[in-house]
Amino acid sequence: MLNFRLSPQQLELQQKAREFALKEILPVAWHYDEIDETPLAVLKKAYAAGLINGDIPQKYGGNGWGLIESVILTEELAAACPGLATTIFDNSLGMEPLVLSKNEALKKQYFSKILNDFKLICFATSEPTMGSDVAGIRCKAERDGNDYILNGTKYWITNGGIADYMSVFATVDTDSHHEGICAFLVERDWPGVSIGRKIPKMGQRGSNTTGINFKDVRVPEANIMAPPGEGFLLAMHTFARTRPAIGAFAVGTARSAMEYAIDYAKKRRAFGTKIANFQAIQHKIAEMYQKVETSRLLVWKAAWEADNGIDPTIAASIAKFYATEACLEVANEALQIFAGYGYTKMFPIEKLLRDARLFRIYEGTSEVQRYIVSGYALNGYQPVMPPLEDLPIHRDMDPAEFEEDQAETAWRCRMCGYVHYGERPPEECPYCFFPASAFKGV
Ligand SMILES: Cc1cc2nc3c(=O)[nH]c(=O)nc-3n(C[C@H](O)[C@H](O)[C@H](O)COP(=O)(O)OP(=O)(O)OC[C@H]3O[C@@H](n4cnc5c(N)ncnc54)[C@H](O)[C@@H]3O)c2cc1C
Repeated sequence: MLNFRLSPQQLELQQKAREFALKEILPVAWHYDEIDETPLAVLKKAYAAGLINGDIPQKYGGNGWGLIESVILTEELAAACPGLATTIFDNSLGMEPLVLSKNEALKKQYFSKILNDFKLICFATSEPTMGSDVAGIRCKAERDGNDYILNGTKYWITNGGIADYMSVFATVDTDSHHEGICAFLVERDWPGVSIGRKIPKMGQRGSNTTGINFKDVRVPEANIMAPPGEGFLLAMHTFARTRPAIGAFAVGTARSAMEYAIDYAKKRRAFGTKIANFQAIQHKIAEMYQKVETSRLLVWKAAWEADNGIDPTIAASIAKFYATEACLEVANEALQIFAGYGYTKMFPIEKLLRDARLFRIYEGTSEVQRYIVSGYALNGYQPVMPPLEDLPIHRDMDPAEFEEDQAETAWRCRMCGYVHYGERPPEECPYCFFPASAFKGV
């Protein structure tokens, strides 16, 4: 049964997140974008309000939110500031490998630390030389007794400069690709961990992004999240569960761009009337609204699949690339409605457009999502229709009168599709000249 109605608890969470976004994020968003800083005070308020870490499973003392709750929350925060939403959401991304890990003792230890104190955890697969190709990780994990020694650099790490803990993916052997990948929970204060300078960015400047270097960092056996051979799948399963939230960032951002554009179109006048009265503007608004709605449907479907025990990988990829590309189109058209004023820093659209540009890049680029979805469509998807060569022919006959012994009176050319009627196939196809062997009885 389908049901798009949110539960009373979900509506309460949506309202709470909306109020937080309007009261705590919106008033400071442009300031922190301008000065390129992450406001820790806002993160602490989000923690105190229970808007961070809600997805820690109940078994470990958390709220055990599903992905539906996560995408509802994320849409609201991103509507106020995509950059601050990214930084607030980052604990969910950083924790997801731990949620999925089989290391029970590690979960108990760190979930309780994260729940009981304001602790940030980041996620680190990307490196200076790779992002999309996770199997190409070079950060080295060398076995030393039961421990591992980490050496290498992670790059582009959201909250890298402010996180206390990090989910780090490394490899025991750079030549063994997927099979060598493993994952560890590393603490920022351990000897050998260094944080790089903050990376200056085009948008989402309220979120902190840095490199992290590991020089002979000893990781105790207890902190293994995934042993060699299990790390790659752990990263992929993490993305399948976090990509719907990136789609939700896009929904929230697009929604705000659309709302600002509607407001502006109702007020701005040209040629003696409000610009909202021009059909060209109305069509833009209709398409914006359509994109926001379709994006949200895809995001909710992916989240629903994950919450209902269905592998969300494909739905998550579709939601991610559709919603993030739609968001960019919506923000761009919103700027067009604002025209000159949209291009200034006095109105919010230019920031939303800069912020939205990142959605198509992190957590798997649009190209990588298309690669995943086309791989499934070509190799995993089960079609309903028969193969082309087995299509029923168009018989000019009442099916009730169709006799069994007439079943083999037609032959289809597998090359061009021509159907020949008769006891035997023709010597050669009259259309493409392929021989009788190209015909199949239908
Ligand atoms: C602000 C920001 C924050 C980030 N936060 C994090 C984080 O917290 N943790 C983390 O681990 N990473 C993070 N990333 C890294 C991000 O996930 C990568 O940038 C992204 O995966 C792309 O990798 P890349 O930049 O190395 O591009 P590349 O992988 O080098 O790709 C370059 C181009 O080639 C295309 N391409 C690559 N492979 C294929 C293929 N098989 N088929 C078709 N096209 C392909 C890509 O789509 C892209 O257009 C962040 C990045 C940014 C910019």
